[in-house]
Amino acid sequence: MPPDAKARVFFRSLGCPKNQLDTEVMLGSLATRGYAIAERIEDADACVVNTCSFIESAREESVDAILEVADLRESGRLRALVVAGCLPQRYGAELAKELPEVDAFVGTGRFPEIAPILDDALAGRSRGVYVDAGRTHLYDERDPRIPIGPRHSAYMKIAEGCNRPCAFCAIPGIRGRFQSRRPESLVAEARQLAEGGARELNLVAQDSTAWGWDLPERPGLPDLLRALDEVEGIDWIRLLYLYPTAIGDELVETIAGAQRVLPYVDVPLQHASDAMLRAMKRGATAANQRELVERLRAGIPGLTLRTTFIVGFPGESEADFLELCDFVREARFDRVGVFRYSDEEGTAAAELPGKVPRAEARRRHRELLALQREIMAETLAAQVGREAPVLVDRVAPGLATGRLASQAPEIDGVVFLRGEATEPGQLVPGHITGVRGADLEAEIGAPATAQPAPR
Ligand code: SF4
Repeated sequence: MPPDAKARVFFRSLGCPKNQLDTEVMLGSLATRGYAIAERIEDADACVVNTCSFIESAREESVDAILEVADLRESGRLRALVVAGCLPQRYGAELAKELPEVDAFVGTGRFPEIAPILDDALAGRSRGVYVDAGRTHLYDERDPRIPIGPRHSAYMKIAEGCNRPCAFCAIPGIRGRFQSRRPESLVAEARQLAEGGARELNLVAQDSTAWGWDLPERPGLPDLLRALDEVEGIDWIRLLYLYPTAIGDELVETIAGAQRVLPYVDVPLQHASDAMLRAMKRGATAANQRELVERLRAGIPGLTLRTTFIVGFPGESEADFLELCDFVREARFDRVGVFRYSDEEGTAAAELPGKVPRAEARRRHRELLALQREIMAETLAAQVGREAPVLVDRVAPGLATGRLASQAPEIDGVVFLRGEATEPGQLVPGHITGVRGADLEAEIGAPATAQPAPR
């Protein structure tokens, strides 16, 4: 620890990439206010657990993580424990009663105050709940940020909050109304990230397609993509979390025509039966979701299509589930995430009758995943023999891994690389030689030099 550091802080960051960005902003804020960042909890004086609470399993994981650290706090090995993020944002006061070992609870709107809050906690001055209902702090390019992921692959939050009415989702109540970042702030951050070594930029928001709607000039996501497409040094721009009914032709054409924006679309469709889509308040029908899949495939050459579905939503009959399976069989998505429905306090779905028994929801979850595994085994096998650029993520003795443009970080598997091991962040030509479960194997060719990167 630097001799003048106030204390060493360890972070445990849970949940999605949006939460990871909040962690990075808190780390930046603490580092600029005299704290040292500990790599291991054993070396720390204080710990911040940044939590997720969007579904039951995420909440359980967050509570388990807090309880693990709480033991260290109780035994005195840690001098302060702070719980931040979605969990206190949602249940601040209740948590404070149940978790007396925790010194402070910081909601999603109070991240910028993490340093003074920790100062107080370490000094034993107060035990506080710092939560503003329905407000989330949205960082910009001026906020210091310490990346916790690899430098060559960065996330960039383009907006925060959500105004959609999806019946199952607690996010609007937790993260508040939708707010976009300014385009010039995003371009400036993209440049900063490129200067810091980022080659891949993953754009995240709760609803990326809504970007710009709340800004006075009312720009749209295609405008932002065109501006980011000009940023030198970035090779891959990846779009995550698109809302299906908001994908217009201009967006499809922009993705197809861009140099750096990847032909990769992540569009959570959630279900495929009209009854379920209506009950979920998605504003979509089975027919227009089918039409969307066709439009995306026709409009974006070489498209990788990722989606997510929810099984066990209230009222989901066996017929609804089979309709969903038929759709998955027919659409042959490249990647599918499947969530089991859980009642979320304050949502419209929690009040709905027709709850699906847990065991039944588990069976549907298992079956849909197994179906997608079969499809994916075929789509991955079809890639063997192809040439494709690989972004190297990790180089260790005897093991190098990377990803294709079709693989988003953390969720879409990796490519195991053979050949001249290079360094992380390099874009190398790969020859795909095999499939390993949800992953691929490839031989590395000569290092790629051409700019911009091939898609
Ligand atoms: S679009 Fe729907 S599912 Fe996504 S964050 Fe908004 S309300 Fe939740």
